[in-house]
Amino acid sequence: MTAMHPGIIERNLFIDNGPRPALDGERIDVVDPSDGIVFGSIARGRSADVGLAVASARRAFDGDGTADGRWGRTPAPERGRILAGLARAVEGAAEELAALESRDTGKPLRQARADALALARYFEFYAGAADKLHGQTVPYRQGYTVLTLREPHGVTGHIVPWNYPMQIFGRSVGASLAAGNACVVKPAEDACLSVLRVAELAAGCGLPPGALNIVSGLGAEAGEALAAHPGIDHLSFTGSPATGTRVAQVAAAHHCPVTLELGGKSPQLVFADADLDAAIPSLVGAIIQNAGQTCSAGSRVLVEQSIHDEVLERLAVAFSALRAGPAQRDLDLGPLVSLRQQQRVWDALSEAQASGIRFVAQGQIIEDAPAGGFYQAPVLLADVPPGHHIEQEEIFGPVLAVTPFETEAEALRLANGTPYGLVAGVWTRDGARQLRLAHRLRAGQVFINDYGAGGGVELPFGGVKRSGHGREKGFEALYGFTTLKTVALRHD
Ligand code: NAD
Repeated sequence: MTAMHPGIIERNLFIDNGPRPALDGERIDVVDPSDGIVFGSIARGRSADVGLAVASARRAFDGDGTADGRWGRTPAPERGRILAGLARAVEGAAEELAALESRDTGKPLRQARADALALARYFEFYAGAADKLHGQTVPYRQGYTVLTLREPHGVTGHIVPWNYPMQIFGRSVGASLAAGNACVVKPAEDACLSVLRVAELAAGCGLPPGALNIVSGLGAEAGEALAAHPGIDHLSFTGSPATGTRVAQVAAAHHCPVTLELGGKSPQLVFADADLDAAIPSLVGAIIQNAGQTCSAGSRVLVEQSIHDEVLERLAVAFSALRAGPAQRDLDLGPLVSLRQQQRVWDALSEAQASGIRFVAQGQIIEDAPAGGFYQAPVLLADVPPGHHIEQEEIFGPVLAVTPFETEAEALRLANGTPYGLVAGVWTRDGARQLRLAHRLRAGQVFINDYGAGGGVELPFGGVKRSGHGREKGFEALYGFTTLKTVALRHD
């Protein structure tokens, strides 16, 4: 890193435990979403840079005949100790990381701080799990002993989006390193700074060269080159369904297994017997967190008809009080991440308006917010017709759609009636209904009288249908970052 003048940040790729400019020297501007002003640049890695990073990771994992392949031969307890040290280093740098992330993505400071602490917690969790991952013995025919070995894939690729760079990096790289893989990461072009800083911290904690490489760059260049690289043994992709499809197709050409964490249109079902004092703030929080740019955002509220007007009124009061402004002001919402994202939300709202969908309430953008920032006030929409684009597709902004239902069967049909299946919430005091719906909702996670459970590093996460496949987070993720070998020994 070379600071050009105070406030300007210049970052390079991170390969073999050190910074390195892109081979062709090209760079990408870094824009502060709070004012739209460029405050630095990152290296624009391309295919040849990805090649160097993969070669570095391969050396760390395999050894190259002359070098020692240190990471591939590091015993599990030692991997755990290094990750535990990294957890402490991230905790110690939490304020620095939060300030960086907040400036880079527009996240309010306290949300960026929570992300930094979650990142530390991912490393802590997987540090503890590294030496508890093992195979089994399998009863088989007389005269045999059969055992299974859980082995790392080798070199894993990680394509990360811009909305929660630290958390998504932590959950996937933390699990992969704990399982013994060497990693190559392609962060999103809109949000690389925190991840590059964490790689420096990892090197300082004893992670050997090549175990963790970061190639910043554009999706169609560095991202696609990573998916296509035959030296990658497993790919973990988090991002949009369209890109996920592309990445899976590209990776299939070299038979590379892929975990896809894609989008969502997650419903919250509110029944007439719900505790509304608990539900209302949770419904609001689930859509405004990170300005709605959350894959698991609770972007649809389905409300039982008899309490529909009351819920809508209470949501409207809450929405009207919300304020958006610069990330450093730490208000309810920061700006959206980019001009492109702002345009995407505006397009969706124009479409809602053109379809006659009811705009019930809107929050405020504070008066002195810089004119160049990518702000969007939170919007509450009502009577959103089932099947409408607004009810079916991710907006990825602070827009909540409310739809009434008459019966539990109708609520379930609406909840399951989108192409997605990531998360669902159910608000009811009826125990039988809680369990019935937990079974019948098509989603990777179901929360009862809550939403998100505070993030939950320990809780397996992932989707069904267009929300993706494979699970990250929790102990379950370690199975995805390993492959199983069966050893049959005939002794009689
Ligand atoms: P995106 O798909 O545009 O980009 C995600 C990543 O893929 C970025 O690093 C990007 O550079 C890279 N990429 C883009 N084109 C590529 C290509 N052709 N080949 C390889 N890589 C490529 O998504 P985004 O706009 O950054 O993120 C928002 C989306 O991510 C939303 O749909 C959201 O729901 C989803 N998301 C899902 C989860 C989850 O865990 N399920 C978490 C966060 C975000």
